[in-house]
Amino acid sequence: MRKMLAALAATMLLSGCTEALTTDAGDGLDARVALLLPERKASRYEAGDQPYFAQKLAELCPGCTVDYRNAEQSAATQLQQAKEALDQGAKVLVLTPVDSIAAGQIVTEAKSRSVPVISYDRLVLKAPVDYYISFDNAKVGALQAAALLQALGAKASQGEILWINGSPTDNNATLFKQGAHAGLDGKVKVAAESDTAEWSPDNARKWTASVLPTLRGRTIVGVYAANDGTAGAAIAAMKAAGLPQVPVTGQDAETAALQRILVGDQYMTVYKAIRTEAETAATLADDLLRGKKPAETANVDNGAGQVPSILLDPVTVTKDTIAGTVVKDGFVTPSALCAGQ
Ligand code: BGC
Repeated sequence: MRKMLAALAATMLLSGCTEALTTDAGDGLDARVALLLPERKASRYEAGDQPYFAQKLAELCPGCTVDYRNAEQSAATQLQQAKEALDQGAKVLVLTPVDSIAAGQIVTEAKSRSVPVISYDRLVLKAPVDYYISFDNAKVGALQAAALLQALGAKASQGEILWINGSPTDNNATLFKQGAHAGLDGKVKVAAESDTAEWSPDNARKWTASVLPTLRGRTIVGVYAANDGTAGAAIAAMKAAGLPQVPVTGQDAETAALQRILVGDQYMTVYKAIRTEAETAATLADDLLRGKKPAETANVDNGAGQVPSILLDPVTVTKDTIAGTVVKDGFVTPSALCAGQ
């Protein structure tokens, strides 16, 4: 009996020991994962993508390190940052390219060291990336177009709209534009349309301010703006020119944009569940580190082949649906929305 008890105690001790080694020591995996984000002007990257990614990876791989870098909208800086991250031993690159084509060079650098690349939110074009996690971006444009048409109603045929796209180097901007044109072409006239270099709200504000004087005597009934940063810029420029409030689209469900929607300055935004996107990317990175085959739901052709992809669903948000979407999902709190009101 004593012998049996001793054997049992030894087994328990050993199993406890195994558990301690696997749980506490984070199963020994201590890899570096580089998270290369493109800019800071849109609030999502530092308020959402980066912390959500880091939290999820820490949960899945307590011994792993996130090497986060922000390129501040410079493709050259991003290449430099990627090289540094690789030099410092990154085992996976999670990359939101500033320039979808130029980033091919980053993929080449990574591949030369057998490091997989996850194209995060924006697709790298014409280069062999391993995975792509994003939203259905043509649908983002389609949702913006549908909401703008709904807001305009009969006014769609009584005036023209201003049209502000994102950065021409971002493949997402191309997809938003395509989706929006498919929904609006033939239904409303466009007074003027521009891309926005670097997605810079400042560039969007300057363009709007410069184009308005050339449109005197014409009726601007609405604005297609590709994201919340450009929407806020257009709204500010139109206010400064003394023009009346018109329906304006947006994207990202930034707190400032939701506040503009509440007071009627902006008509809609598109909510993309960034937490899910970032956590899915962290799970993909962890799977790749462990040599597991990640789950994917789609294939997207990036010009270099079919990229295994996960595409999430974007959601329209207007004043009536703020409570049932972004607030319900915990993306923003009522107190944050009502601060300063
Ligand atoms: C992202 C948007 C963001 C924009 C500017 C796009 O690629 O999908 O969420 O507003 O870039 O950073």
